[in-house]
Amino acid sequence: MAERSRTAETGSAIGSDDIIAGNVSKYTVLPAGYCGQPKKGHLIFDACFESGNLGRVDHITEFEYDLFIRPDTCNPRFRVWFNFTVENVKESQSLFGGLIAKGTSKSRVIFNVVNFSKTKSLYRDGMAPMVKSTSRPKWQRIPSKNVYYYRCPDHRRNYVMSFAFCFDREDDTYQFAYCYPYTYTRLQHYLDNLQRRNMDYFCRELLGLSVLPGSHLLSLHTFLVFPVAVDLQVLLLQQLQKRQLDLLTITSPANLRPGAEQKVVFITARVHPGETPSSFVCQGIIDFLVSQHPIAKVLRDHLVFKIAPMLNPDGVYLGNYRCSLMGFDLNRHWANPSPWAHPTLHGVKQLIIEMYNNPKINLEFYIDIHAHSTMMNGFMYGNIFEDEERFQRQAVFPKLLCQNAEDFSYSSTSFNRDAVKAGTGRRFLGGLLNDTSYCYTLEVSFYSYILGGPTSAVPYTEAAYMKLGRNVARTFLDYYRLNSLVERPLAPTPKSRKEKTPLFKCTTQRGQGNSHAGGKPEKRSQAHRKDQSLSMQ
Ligand SMILES: [Zn+2]
Repeated sequence: MAERSRTAETGSAIGSDDIIAGNVSKYTVLPAGYCGQPKKGHLIFDACFESGNLGRVDHITEFEYDLFIRPDTCNPRFRVWFNFTVENVKESQSLFGGLIAKGTSKSRVIFNVVNFSKTKSLYRDGMAPMVKSTSRPKWQRIPSKNVYYYRCPDHRRNYVMSFAFCFDREDDTYQFAYCYPYTYTRLQHYLDNLQRRNMDYFCRELLGLSVLPGSHLLSLHTFLVFPVAVDLQVLLLQQLQKRQLDLLTITSPANLRPGAEQKVVFITARVHPGETPSSFVCQGIIDFLVSQHPIAKVLRDHLVFKIAPMLNPDGVYLGNYRCSLMGFDLNRHWANPSPWAHPTLHGVKQLIIEMYNNPKINLEFYIDIHAHSTMMNGFMYGNIFEDEERFQRQAVFPKLLCQNAEDFSYSSTSFNRDAVKAGTGRRFLGGLLNDTSYCYTLEVSFYSYILGGPTSAVPYTEAAYMKLGRNVARTFLDYYRLNSLVERPLAPTPKSRKEKTPLFKCTTQRGQGNSHAGGKPEKRSQAHRKDQSLSMQ
């Protein structure tokens, strides 16, 4: 339930008065002092559904509400993802999409999301929340001109995102979200459907469960270490259901014969539960790899794809942004994951180590898919190695992907060994695996990609995220076709636009309009220079 006390102020450091104990549940917001039955127009907010998140609503006026994101479970530091419904609305305008008619100030409702834990946001660059309604079930973005992002003196000068919206159909329930939701249940349905197709090159296994037997004891212990409200403890204990950690294997059956040598590409997604675009990209990869496309068939013949599409199923289910049920950022625990506290991560790491120790298996790529809350485009993070040649070879895949995907920016791709990224999958496995393995974080913007300049931001759609995934999959053909380490050249030669472009000349400088693109100019220019001197033949 919502915390009803009107403390009004919140921020990155939550005070004891600000603790939000769970999601609002069919919460009718009444004006102060109102005692009668709720009427039409007394909005009812709800976030008690899968991936829902809204912790508290404050009534400012009939036409303005302050909204508080529920922090990640057991970790109050993260407050970004929101996903909630509004019903019992009063019809105010016939045009869907929240357009504000001039001179009809009463027709709009203003929502202020007041407790984001991050200050930098793509809301500065035109991003807008998503909306759908019962009679219009396709997600769409609220028009950017109705979204405001600013420091608010009423909320400890915290950054507040306000958006104006016009409800137009009284019987509709409206749903608002930070980005396109992609739930655990959606993934399960998607994988169930793939399984029903009985493809001999597709296998789905249960790699583990999100909560192991007995770990509820640890959860209780966790509450002692990280005190949380009693309501939240109840909520968490109710949520201790075992969710699946799925592992997919996509390859021609011949590659799985006993004794067969395997070149493995390992892909993971959704370690950060609020980063929903990661799931669309991952689904795009899977869709392509199981398809009848001739490139997909060649890839299956030569490579073994291992895909863990949802590394943090509990966090996704609960509507967290960054953490697991117990409040851990799993992407900082690769070095020493606990089977009790981080069971999904532990399971994936064990599998990777088994593969690493198997002389018949060469784990050549590891790609962990994320979404980025301040940058445009798709781009990658890679590692820095002392070995010059290894460093050069590592830059090849993102270069090739840049040629295949118009939304992927090589200029935003960077290679680093920042201390803050220690414990990530990319960094840990980059240190573990041998020098013919490449480990990347693939990031994709929550908002848009740039085509030809800063004024031409193209907002991502679900389909565009999936297309990036297909392009990632296709790029493995380019890589192996060019890579002299492969004894058997891969065929066929695709007739696509990349064939017309000279290799390693990324003529378009995508992402230049991004104010953060200059974050690591030295490393990027170093990588770029090395690439151009690289001979792949
Ligand atoms: Zn992430």
